[in-house]
Amino acid sequence: MEFCGDGFDVVVVGAGIMGSCTAYELAKRGHKTLLLEQFDFLHHRGSSHGESRTIRATYPEDYYCAMAMESSKLWEEAQLEINFKVYFKAQQFDMGPLDDKSLLSAVSSCQKNSVPHQVLDSQQVAKKFSGRIKLPENWIGICTELGGVIKPTKAVSMFQALASRKGAILRDNIQVNNIVKDGVKGGVWVSAASGEKFWAKKCVITAGAWVRKLVKTVSGLELPIQALETTVCYWRIREGHEADFAIGGDFPTFASYGQPYIYGTPSLEFPGLIKIAVHDGYPCDPDKRPWGPGMSLSSLKKWIEGRFSGLVDCGEPVATQLCMYSMTPDEDYVIDFLGGEFGKDVVIGGGFSGHGFKMAPVVGRMLADMALCGEAKGVDLNYFRIQRFQQNPKGNVKNFEHQVGFSANNKSIVQ
Ligand SMILES: Cc1cc2nc3c(=O)[nH]c(=O)nc-3n(C[C@H](O)[C@H](O)[C@H](O)COP(=O)(O)OP(=O)(O)OC[C@H]3O[C@@H](n4cnc5c(N)ncnc54)[C@H](O)[C@@H]3O)c2cc1C
Repeated sequence: MEFCGDGFDVVVVGAGIMGSCTAYELAKRGHKTLLLEQFDFLHHRGSSHGESRTIRATYPEDYYCAMAMESSKLWEEAQLEINFKVYFKAQQFDMGPLDDKSLLSAVSSCQKNSVPHQVLDSQQVAKKFSGRIKLPENWIGICTELGGVIKPTKAVSMFQALASRKGAILRDNIQVNNIVKDGVKGGVWVSAASGEKFWAKKCVITAGAWVRKLVKTVSGLELPIQALETTVCYWRIREGHEADFAIGGDFPTFASYGQPYIYGTPSLEFPGLIKIAVHDGYPCDPDKRPWGPGMSLSSLKKWIEGRFSGLVDCGEPVATQLCMYSMTPDEDYVIDFLGGEFGKDVVIGGGFSGHGFKMAPVVGRMLADMALCGEAKGVDLNYFRIQRFQQNPKGNVKNFEHQVGFSANNKSIVQ
């Protein structure tokens, strides 16, 4: 069945956090918007579900700092608009060996972007966190104010509710199986497995771990975006110390540089438990997930034992959750026009490489700009172009280490 009426200004494919933020931006600007999702809204099979994501401005790549700062403001504006609370502020604490190139690069990024920060040695860290965080002698820590936790499932529902309030149409259980150009009247036809077809002037694809499959079907282009299954772990805080690690005090969101790269949040979603996980995963086909068994936790356990002065039980995680990353070879996003016969009519936002959630409001703003005006204001899109992989299969060249372990250790599987 073809959609009756004048069609849409923009159809957005994929209602994870990126698609939901994009639909909100488009509808807010008065454009007729349709957001399509292949599964139930708020499902747990993609990348945007769960209880916590970190936000931080510390990045080895300086181009993400300004995006994170803009995003932080947009998160606050959105939650004020609807009176949801999804953003819980905390300090951010990054740590690692003092010769770690990524960590040193993150310090330079702070300097370049005027992000207020303090660099501390191991003794200063012990004092600042009253002995809760212990660093080896040859490590340093960086403290910044912009940090915190965002509640992902709630945040997706917030942006979907906002988009709907602004007039966007949201439909779930609609799997898009092709997008074709309308050579006569212009624009594109977006067709679904159900047989329905929707016409729009523009289309934005925010299909998460499925972006590679959909883009290949639509245009034949093979994007180097690999789905990874990753595991989040929650650990028990020793009795009597729960409040010392809880959000709302001085305990920070944190990241530990080096191999493995480890990240975590203060205790929030499950009282008495703290989330500490490795930024790593196994390549998978998003339609044939292994659903476990998860990664080896031996280095993570050792890290917890060493860093948290025995105040967190490193025996076994109390709870684990599975989720998917969409990795590019350089861990930079893909934000670009599809090009070819589609020119600027189809825009892609994908490959968020395990660090996209915090940026979703700014990415939504950029994707809406691109669909409506043909450019993203205030951001250098060159870092995110598809073309970078044609020039170099590894993408952007960096003079520091990758952060997600898989990039170095595992081969891609063909989806
Ligand atoms: C465990 C874990 C921890 C993370 N921690 C952080 C963090 O601390 N900070 C941070 O910034 N980021 C973090 N991330 C990354 C962040 O969550 C992702 O970058 C972000 O959620 C990606 O959102 P998305 O909308 O691109 O993908 P998704 O949420 O997967 O959304 C894509 C949607 O498109 C739908 N779709 C796909 N194909 C079709 C189709 N053909 N038709 C219709 N619908 C379709 C899918 O069903 C899906 O709902 C983490 C990710 C994971 C998994």
